[in-house]
Amino acid sequence: MPSLPWSDIDTVLLDMDGTLLDLHFDNHFWLEHLPRRYAELHGVSPAMAEMELQPLFERHAGQLQWYCLDFWSAELKLSVRDLKQETAHLIALRPDADTFLDAIKRAGKRVIMITNAHRDSLSLKLERIELAPYFERLISSHDYGFPKENPQFWDALQADIDFDPARSLFIDDTLPILRSARDFGVAHLLAVKEPDSRKGQKDTAEFAAVEDYRDLIRGL
Ligand SMILES: [Mg+2]
Repeated sequence: MPSLPWSDIDTVLLDMDGTLLDLHFDNHFWLEHLPRRYAELHGVSPAMAEMELQPLFERHAGQLQWYCLDFWSAELKLSVRDLKQETAHLIALRPDADTFLDAIKRAGKRVIMITNAHRDSLSLKLERIELAPYFERLISSHDYGFPKENPQFWDALQADIDFDPARSLFIDDTLPILRSARDFGVAHLLAVKEPDSRKGQKDTAEFAAVEDYRDLIRGL
C-alpha cells in the first residue's frame, strides 16, 4: 500500500475490534462460545440454540443494541459479561498495532479511539491490553446514542472533539462505517486486510487497507 501523506494529517481516529485488536476473540465469542454456553445454561440442544439465536442476531445486526451487553444479557437471560470473561485469554493485539500507536503518538498526532463497543466490552479489553496510554480519548458510540454507521454519530463526534475531517485519518475494519466517515468528509480512510487472524484476507472493496502497520509509519 502507498505511504500516507502524514504532513496532511493531524488527527488519527481508530476503531478497536478488528483494527487494533484481533477480531478472532469477538468472532469466537459470538459464533462459538456464546451459542455453546447458551445451550448449556438453558438446557437446550446446540441445534435448538442455533435456531433461537440466529434470528435474533440477524434482527439486531448493525444497530446500537447489537453492541450492548445489557441488551443481550436481558434478551438471552444470561450474563454476557461473565461469559466473555471465560474467553478473555483470546483478547490480543493485531501484529505491530502497538508499534504503530507508539509512532503516531511520538509524532505528535492527536490519537482518538472511536468504537461501537459497549463500555463494559471496552473495559474488559483494556484490562487485558494496555491501550489507554496511547489515546487522548476513548470514545464509545454508546456515549452519543448512535453507532458509527449513523451520520449523527459523526455530528456528535465533531461537537465533542472539534476535529478537522479534511486533516484526519480513520482506520476501521467495517466497510459501512468507513462509508459513513467518508460521507461526513473524513479525507483519509483505510480498511483492514485481515481483521481476524484465523480467517485470512478480506475484500475491502473501494478502500485501501492496512496489511502491515510497519508500512504505515514510513514517512512519519
Ligand atoms: Mg471493528
